[in-house]
Amino acid sequence: MHTYPGNIHVHSRYSDGSGSLEEIAADAAAAGLSYVITADHETLGGLPEEAIRHGVAMLVGIEINHSHCHYVALNLSEFIPSNDENPQLVIDRVNEAGGLGFIAHPFEKGSRYLEKGRAYPWKIWPVFRFQGIEIWNYTSHWRGRDPSLLKTLYWFLFDRKGAMDAPSSECLRLWDCYNIHNYRITGIGSSDAHAFPYNLGLFKVKVFTYRYIFKTINTYIVLEDELSQNFELAKQQIIGALREGRCYISFDSLHSGSGFSFYAAAGDKIVQMGGEITARPGVCLHVKAPARRSQIRLIRNGRLFKVCDGSQAEFNVAEPGVYRAEVFFRPLLRRPRPWIYSNPIYLR
Ligand SMILES: [Zn+2]
Ligand SMILES: [Zn+2]
Repeated sequence: MHTYPGNIHVHSRYSDGSGSLEEIAADAAAAGLSYVITADHETLGGLPEEAIRHGVAMLVGIEINHSHCHYVALNLSEFIPSNDENPQLVIDRVNEAGGLGFIAHPFEKGSRYLEKGRAYPWKIWPVFRFQGIEIWNYTSHWRGRDPSLLKTLYWFLFDRKGAMDAPSSECLRLWDCYNIHNYRITGIGSSDAHAFPYNLGLFKVKVFTYRYIFKTINTYIVLEDELSQNFELAKQQIIGALREGRCYISFDSLHSGSGFSFYAAAGDKIVQMGGEITARPGVCLHVKAPARRSQIRLIRNGRLFKVCDGSQAEFNVAEPGVYRAEVFFRPLLRRPRPWIYSNPIYLR
C-alpha cells in the first residue's frame, strides 16, 4: 500500500486566503505534500486551475454556508448555493451533483481576539447523508483555545505545538456515534489555512504561512497503486480514498505520520481502514506507528479498548464493533501527545 499526505480545506485568493493556487502548490510541494484541497467561501472560481502543480494534485472544492453549518464539498462542477437554515438541503444538493462533503469545524468556539468572539459551529442537528466530518481543524483549534494574551504569545513564539492539545472530545463522540450506527462517516483533519496578513502598526505579519501550516494537521490517503501523475486519475484516487475512509489524520508538527498503518487480517484477507470484515476468531488488527516512542490505543465503539506502548501492536479481536486506532507521541520526559487518528475498520 502507498500513503500520501495532503492538506484539506485551504483558502486561496478566490475568497479570503492570501495565496494563488500556484503559490499554494509551491508551498505544499516544499512541505512534502502530495495533494491539496482548496475550499474557498461560496465560490468554485478556482476550478479552471485544477491541475498537478509543482508535483502536487490541486483539487478545488468549496466551503458552503455563511454564519454556521459550514460544509466543505468537492468533486463539484456546478455551484451549490448556501442555505444556513437548511443545511440538509445543501448536503443533498452536493450529493445530487456527484460531490462529497465534510462537516467543517462542527464545535468551533470563538476567540476574544478574533471577530469579537464569533464562531461558526454546526448548529442544526441531526443531518444525514454527508460523507465526512473534520475531527481536527488547525485554525479552528487555535481559535477555540482562547487563552490569555500572554499564553497565546508564549505558544506562538515558543511552543506552537502546545496549543494543539487534542481533537475535541465532543467531535470524536459525534463521529463515533454516527459510525456505531453504521453511517460510515470519514474523519478528516484539515487546516483551514488562510495565511492572511495581520496589520501590526507599520508592519503586516503573516502569522501562519501556508508552508508552516502544511506541516501541521494533514490527512494521509492510503492507495493500492501509486498516486497517478495524470490529474484526473489522481483526483479520482484521492476522492475514492476520502469517500471510503481509507485515510488517517496526523498532527505532523509532532512527527511525520508517514509510515503509519492500520489494517485487519484474517487468513489471506486484508482489510484497510474504511473496510468491513466478518467478526470471527482469528481476526487480527495490526497497527504500525512511525516512531518508536509511541503509545497505540485501540478504540472500540468509541471507548478505549486496549493500550500498548511501542511502535507496533497486534490485537486479536473477535467481537463485532467499530475499531479505530489512535497513536500518542511520547516526547522525552513529557506526557504522551495525541498524534494520529485512523479511520475505523468495521467488524460485523
Ligand atoms: Zn468555516
Ligand atoms: Zn474555511
